[in-house]
Formats: sequence, C-alpha cells, structure tokens
Amino acid sequence: MDKLRIAVSGGLFALLSIGIVAGLSTGTLSGFGWDAFSLLCPFGAVTSMIAAHLVVPRGVVSLVLMVAFIAVFGRAFCGWVCPVPLGKRISGFFKSANRRKVEQDERRERMLDIARHQLSCGTECSECASCKQRRAKLDSRHVVLGGALLSTVAFGFPVFCIVCPIGLAFATVLLVWRLFANGDVSILVVAVPALLVLEATLLRKWCARFCPLAAFMNLIGRFNRTFRPVIDESKCIESVSGRPCSRCSMVCEAEINVRHPEFGERTLDDCTRCRACVEACPAGALSLPLRSGRGVQEGPVTIEDNVDPSVLASKPAGE
Ligand code: SF4
Ligand code: SF4
Ligand code: SF4
Repeated sequence: MDKLRIAVSGGLFALLSIGIVAGLSTGTLSGFGWDAFSLLCPFGAVTSMIAAHLVVPRGVVSLVLMVAFIAVFGRAFCGWVCPVPLGKRISGFFKSANRRKVEQDERRERMLDIARHQLSCGTECSECASCKQRRAKLDSRHVVLGGALLSTVAFGFPVFCIVCPIGLAFATVLLVWRLFANGDVSILVVAVPALLVLEATLLRKWCARFCPLAAFMNLIGRFNRTFRPVIDESKCIESVSGRPCSRCSMVCEAEINVRHPEFGERTLDDCTRCRACVEACPAGALSLPLRSGRGVQEGPVTIEDNVDPSVLASKPAGE
C-alpha cells in the first residue's frame, strides 16, 4: 500500500509536471483540469475570492466539491495526492541510518510508555479530566489558517500561496524547465527551491503543526464518520492479553496515537487514510470500514480466543 501511495502521488506530480513543461495547460494541484473542467485548491479559492472581493463560480464549485470529498474521505488528499510527504521521504534519505534508528526508537518507546500507562491506569479516558486536558480543540495549524486569511485581507492578495510548499514544488519544476529549455535565468531559479528546502528543513513538522490546508481539512473532518480506523477489541493484543503493543501508533504519519487517541498529538479527525496502521497491526485488528462510528471502538478489556495464538505467543514490540 505504501508503494501504491508513492506511485499515486508521485505519478500525479509527474503527470502535472509533464503538462507544465509541455505547455498543456493542465495546471498544478493549486488549480488543475482543462478549460471549463478545472478545479482550484479550496484554500486558494477562498483566499483569492477574499482578495478580489468577488465570488467566482469556479471557486465556489471547487470549494463545495472539496468539502464533500473531505466529508467522505477525511484527509485522504494528504495521504494519497499531496507531493509534500513524498518530498519528506526524499529528504529522509539524506538522514544517517543512525539518526533514523534513534528517531524510530524514541517514537517506539514513547508509544509503549503510553500503552503501559494506559494498561495499568484502569480509568476510562472519557472519565478522566487529565486526558481531556491534554489537547485543545484548535492547534497551531488553525492559528496559521487564521493568519493566512487575515494577511489576505490586510494585503489584498493570497499571501500564503507564495510560501505554500505544494505551489513551490510545481514552481520549481517550471523554473528549472525554463532554465534548461529557454535559458531563462532569474533569481527565482535559486530563491524558489531554496525556500522549499528551507521549509522542509526548518519546518519539519509542517504537516502536523503548520499547514493551513490541513487545518481546513481538520475542521471539516470533524464531521466525517466514514473510512476511519476502527479497532476490533476482540482481536487487539492490548485488549486481549493486556500487553503493550501500539505498533499501529508507531507508524502513523499523522501523529495520531491510533490505539490511545487521547494521547496523540492529533486526533482521528486528521487520519490521512494511509492504511499504515492497518498493515502494521500483527493481529489484523484494524480496519477502515465504510461506516466507522466515532472511530476507535471503546469497550471492556476481554480475553477472547479468536486471536492467532502465534501472535499472542510472540512478544509485542519493546517487551
Ligand atoms: S498537511 Fe498540507 S502539506 Fe502536508 S500533506 Fe496535507 S496538504 Fe500537503
Ligand atoms: S490512523 Fe492509520 S490510516 Fe490514519 S493516518 Fe494514521 S496510520 Fe494512516
Ligand atoms: S497494532 Fe493492532 S494489536 Fe497492536 S495495539 Fe494496535 S490495534 Fe492493537
């Protein structure tokens, strides 16, 4: 599934890039399609309309379609379409193997600590005030979203679009192509990729902490109840054996603690439908069903015998 996601987002980026260099007018992810059959980035559409003090039918249609998409598939755009996570993977290759291992071990230990605490706590998180207080309803991304809207009003143009990494990625393709094809030399050939690299290095947690598009999707995603991760408590190792596992939480790219959502930096409202947790679960306890209620199922810890005995026999990660 991971390879499929890379193929989908990378393939789309490559196709749109080919469209740019071939002059096909297919646009970028900020505005793609053909003539009348084209859509705009919903955030770009909103800010452009605010800046122009004008309601543009194409902008409204794009917004409505994107809202409908998010209502059904949550932040699947991030998991399957956006090229930014792809860029992060590429930059990850430049990290030393040692550094990568340290980061993985730190995350693994953090998740296991939470699992150990929860398994020994004995109180339902919904009843415990300390868990509720761990996370505010709005986070830094919403502040950036508000700032982007306010700056549009103040300056009369969509300021955020200048620094949006998705737009910068396509702008880099165009500038590099023009440099080699037409010999167009300008400061932008250096400035645009440099800004992109700067964002990737200085704002490494861009998606989880800064992206206003993620904030926008998060606000709509709160109403989403379809294709969200659900844990079958009768199969989950932590429920069945009382031993910490949380492998699902160790692999989540959206900083969600899938097994103990109260402790994640983000909630299931931010699920990108990447399916990494489903694939990482050794007990086959996770799924993304069409109708997923309120997300991870709450339920009494019961020991049932429908788990593969070899799974229970093998020690969970970190134990
Ligand atoms: S959070 Fe923003 S930058 Fe990250 S994948 Fe989603 S849309 Fe792209
Ligand atoms: S909860 Fe699962 S499907 Fe959703 S983003 Fe995290 S790993 Fe991917
Ligand atoms: S990976 Fe599977 S078995 Fe382990 S905690 Fe998550 S849902 Fe339970």
